[in-house]
Amino acid sequence: MLLEQISSSGIVGCGGAGFPTAAKYNTKTEYFIINAAECEPLLKKDHYVMNHYAKECVQAIADVGELLEAKQIVIATKAHYTEEIQALENAIQVLHVPIKLFKMNNFYPAGDEQIMVFEITGRTVPPGGIPLDVGCVISNISTMLNIYRAQHGKSVTHKLLTITGAVKEPKILEVPIGTSFTECLTLAGGATIDDFMFINGGPMMGKTGTKEDFSQQVVTKTTSGIIITGKQDFIYELLEKEMPQVINKARSSCIQCRLCTELCPRYQIGHPIHPHRIMRHLTVTEIPDDIDDDPIWKEALLCCECGICETIACPMGLMPRQVNIYVKHRLAEKGIRYQKKEIPLTPSLMREYQQVPPVKILLKNGLKQYADLKVNELCKHETNVVTIPMKMHIGAPCEPVVQPGDQIKAGDLIGKKPEKALGADIHASIDGIVTAVTTSITIERSAL
Ligand code: SF4
Ligand code: SF4
Repeated sequence: MLLEQISSSGIVGCGGAGFPTAAKYNTKTEYFIINAAECEPLLKKDHYVMNHYAKECVQAIADVGELLEAKQIVIATKAHYTEEIQALENAIQVLHVPIKLFKMNNFYPAGDEQIMVFEITGRTVPPGGIPLDVGCVISNISTMLNIYRAQHGKSVTHKLLTITGAVKEPKILEVPIGTSFTECLTLAGGATIDDFMFINGGPMMGKTGTKEDFSQQVVTKTTSGIIITGKQDFIYELLEKEMPQVINKARSSCIQCRLCTELCPRYQIGHPIHPHRIMRHLTVTEIPDDIDDDPIWKEALLCCECGICETIACPMGLMPRQVNIYVKHRLAEKGIRYQKKEIPLTPSLMREYQQVPPVKILLKNGLKQYADLKVNELCKHETNVVTIPMKMHIGAPCEPVVQPGDQIKAGDLIGKKPEKALGADIHASIDGIVTAVTTSITIERSAL
């Protein structure tokens, strides 16, 4: 029943890539872990959810824990989120549910699922594996709010997100999926600078874009935040650099200091990933056609793209993460995946002394000026036009089930996941008339 509600509501993970939640929960597990760490600095959406919807989330967590037959249900958050912890503890007490809180240190990337599994259980997910390999299922706290709403008959139609940075009124927005970023910026009072760029997501793992790209963006099921910023050197460099430049700079300047490897969180939990070796490999060889025969290139597949190596570690301003992403694409073109290995893994003894405080990230990225902005006011807004992409999740794009001219209501099914494929159904987010159907569906309220 619950699994069917989750599936028919179109829920995907709110924490990142948008893995379809019903597919994730089609299993049993020892640990059910809730990621409530919100580890990317500046983002406050999960804080808001914990403070204002603690009871709803805790109820959904307990219900999913039962569905998964979990022996341990744990909410992992940061020890200094005192208000949020209080709200969760109150909800756990009122509802009398067997849920524990795990309080983490303030480091990045505390919310990486494999790091979280390691912190809570001491287990390392095997290289190329998933948390379920060590008896864990992880979901984001905001996903739990969507599950609670699904239990009460509501599909995923709206999205909570943070808008902050160089805006007049930083805030939490709740808007229909498909709302334009331009409209979100207007809701935040507009930008405080003319020549801005933006980050879709957090400062470390979000996608950067120019002012020109901004008007093309819409809120999706996985949009966690919009950060408006000036052309800070480091972020802008990431956006502007072409891959040949990145590779040439790596070839000419890598001093093989190993800092990228020492600070890599996946290396620290014992995975055989050594970004400095990949950088060295790049200096002595072109990426060959038979790339799959080379174990060093394949290490790139273990990279979670957290960005520590290039934002924090490298003293030469090089970009091991970009190199890894490039190598991953080359391997993906050949259909090469990392073969999961059950090998002995030795976590780094230095791990606890090498954790990266989020403030360091803001200093390096030039975003420190936004660290103390108050982002706790909610603005709920209903728009007149939405453009809803048919792919907002991992898996196959949805197939449209409406046509131009159809009159629909918020919550109606507009995109169906292909039979037997991984995916999640998509629903209309406003009442209106369908005015275009391509890889997205446009709905206009004013056309009613
Ligand atoms: S981005 Fe860099 S630090 Fe992060 S996992 Fe990949 S190699 Fe390691
Ligand atoms: S940290 Fe930079 S210079 Fe040092 S090994 Fe890694 S890429 Fe090379």
